[in-house]
Amino acid sequence: MMSLVRLLGFTTLDCGCVTGRYREVATNREITYVEEKGSGCSLHGHRRNHTLVASRFGLGSLTAKAS
Ligand SMILES: [Zn+2]
Repeated sequence: MMSLVRLLGFTTLDCGCVTGRYREVATNREITYVEEKGSGCSLHGHRRNHTLVASRFGLGSLTAKAS
């Protein structure tokens, strides 16, 4: 099953990392990815392609709002 997403925008953080906001079309969820810049960032949450938002949602709960 494809996961189709639309890019909403990028935000550059003070540490130099960039977060990209996407909306997953199938579920209408908003997802934030972090793109770590340079050789590394001191913030553990900024690892490459780390998903900030999706981890807060259990996959099983997505079907509850289907209408
Ligand atoms: Zn960072």
